[in-house]
Amino acid sequence: MTSYDMLLLRFGEITIKGKNRSRFEKAAISHVKSLLLPFPAAKVIREYGRIYVVLNGEPWDVVSESLKQVFGITSISPVRMIPSRLEDIVNAAKTFIQSMPSDKPTTFKVSARRVWKQFPYGSQEMNRLVGGPILQACSHLKVDVHHPDLDLRVEIREQVTYLYSEVIPAAGGFPLGTNGKAMLLLSGGIDSPVAGWSAMRRGLEIECIHFHSYPFTSKKAEEKVIELAGVLSRFAGQIKLHLVPFTDIQTSLAGTGQDNLIITLMRRAMLRIASSLAERNGALALVTGDSLGQVASQTLPSMNVIGRATELPLLRPLVMSDKNEIIHLAKKIGTYDLSILPYEDCCTLFVPKSPTTNPNLRIIEKIEAGLSDLAGQIETAVRDTESLIIRPNEKLERTSAEDEVIQENWF
Ligand code: ATP
Ligand code: MG
Repeated sequence: MTSYDMLLLRFGEITIKGKNRSRFEKAAISHVKSLLLPFPAAKVIREYGRIYVVLNGEPWDVVSESLKQVFGITSISPVRMIPSRLEDIVNAAKTFIQSMPSDKPTTFKVSARRVWKQFPYGSQEMNRLVGGPILQACSHLKVDVHHPDLDLRVEIREQVTYLYSEVIPAAGGFPLGTNGKAMLLLSGGIDSPVAGWSAMRRGLEIECIHFHSYPFTSKKAEEKVIELAGVLSRFAGQIKLHLVPFTDIQTSLAGTGQDNLIITLMRRAMLRIASSLAERNGALALVTGDSLGQVASQTLPSMNVIGRATELPLLRPLVMSDKNEIIHLAKKIGTYDLSILPYEDCCTLFVPKSPTTNPNLRIIEKIEAGLSDLAGQIETAVRDTESLIIRPNEKLERTSAEDEVIQENWF
């Protein structure tokens, strides 16, 4: 196997110029640094439009696997570094190609780039000077300049020349937290953790809100949600989880006897509580795992009536996704196995036989107005919310809802 000296990380959509670009790059670098903590010898170098991680002996494959998670990075290339002398470059290029698994490339091309203009050979000339000896040394290889199996990049710089060919796709999106903060409604299901990951990938900082109906829902169900938040925290360094006591509200709503409308009523109450928590914590949107048509509460008429309970933008990253696409992502992110554990959710407790797919806003508002103290109950739920800070593989810190949120130093 080829041994590598450095990883080259490329930015994707961050084409915004000026101050924002620098802010985005800084956020991505701090994310990279946090993931490099287990690899103390590795050093980060920032260059315009790129990040380099000099490995200093750390294992390139393990490090790149971890850095693939960094939002805002579209791809990673492992790089060999060699002295900027023709003979060294040619020899290293031959070894580089020969060390590739033999079943892999049958066609190749060399793409040289002379960044250091004092180097005596031009880019085109270098393509030939490096390509020729490779052809001689590897009889099974042919040149294909249009669709080569292997594109050997040779970047000639003053200090050193970079040699690389592999391009490993990475998470993409925007660096963590560079697009503001939103509250994620995190159930124990498959969808909402994926929605949270998608929101984070788009540069949102996320705080999670979970509604529980303890003692009707078990501590196991709560632990499952804490673990799900733990998986999400791997992508963020740490994450805040708000646990909202929902039993009283649910009991009141069930008391209306409007079985078919109860899910609609519950969802609206959840959004009201989430909006209040958003305001307290400086978040500007709510994120849910809704996917159009998936269940009765996610038909267009349901989404319409439920969504009116909040004035905040309601972001639904999965709204147009198919379930199998969501499951695929859940497996990749690492939440799937937790999500399918069979603990009950507060909503499964009150699932009516035929929940409405077409609620009427006026009727819903009338029922809500008929409840003696829904607003008071919502306030109480917000007040009694317990907030935890979750870090990957760490013990819990419990805080009260009023505690200061740690926002600045995420890593
Ligand atoms: P999920 O797989 O995320 O549970 P779902 O397909 O089961 O989604 P619903 O149960 O209808 O869908 O919930 C829709 C969305 O409402 C969820 O994706 C989540 O964002 C939010 N939600 C539902 N139940 C809860 C809960 N107990 N706590 C927090 N959010 C919830
Ligand atoms: Mg659910």
